[in-house]
Amino acid sequence: MTENMSIAKKRDSILERMHAAAKRAGRNDVPNLIAVSKVQPDERIKEMLVAGQRIFGENRVQEAQTRWGETFATQRGDIDLHLIGPLQTNKAEDAVRLFDVIETVDREKLAKALLKAADKVGRMPEVLIQVNTGEEVQKSGVLPQDLDVFLARLKSEYDLTPKGLMCIPPQGEAASAHFWFLKNMADKHGFETISMGMSEDFETAIELGATHVRVGSALFGARNYA
Ligand SMILES: *Cc1c(COP(=O)(O)O)cnc(C)c1O
Repeated sequence: MTENMSIAKKRDSILERMHAAAKRAGRNDVPNLIAVSKVQPDERIKEMLVAGQRIFGENRVQEAQTRWGETFATQRGDIDLHLIGPLQTNKAEDAVRLFDVIETVDREKLAKALLKAADKVGRMPEVLIQVNTGEEVQKSGVLPQDLDVFLARLKSEYDLTPKGLMCIPPQGEAASAHFWFLKNMADKHGFETISMGMSEDFETAIELGATHVRVGSALFGARNYA
């Protein structure tokens, strides 16, 4: 993947690889590409929109508000916007106003705050549960062994039924075991949406059942945090 390839070409190439991976796995469905636009310059995002991309992922509420509520506000209506980063309860209302899908619900307090905000705002985003498949202390997500109880409580206490699961495997570990694990948990609960796989491993994720892959740098080029 060369840096000087156009955004549209990079996107075509990623979509092609996604299709090939789905085909290898004998899948008839087409996995969804979430373009992770965090930190990327407006020019690249504009190119991505022109290329036809309509699903975007952001990991910070405030950054997403500036980008999709201001800079690209006129295009916002066509966009399916996913929150893929950790969410504080004090940002719940902003998140409910802005996002179509919140992929990182991992505790009751947050679910409660989202529902309260949804009541006020009059819209409720779809919810995915983040699972901390690697059981990393510094990472958000429900521990795998707590998932059944957490889901049962969301249902009984809040009448909340998530659409699916997401995970971020530990760095430096083979992601495939985590993808396999998440897919099994999703199947057990009858979830259709499985968000897993990033630039380095989205093909493996698709082969193991991802319905949504979250790709940033392989689509837009490297993020410049300077
Ligand atoms: C940044 C990010 C991605 C995209 O990462 P790349 O390696 O650039 O594809 C995917 N998922 C989450 C949760 C992220 O924070």
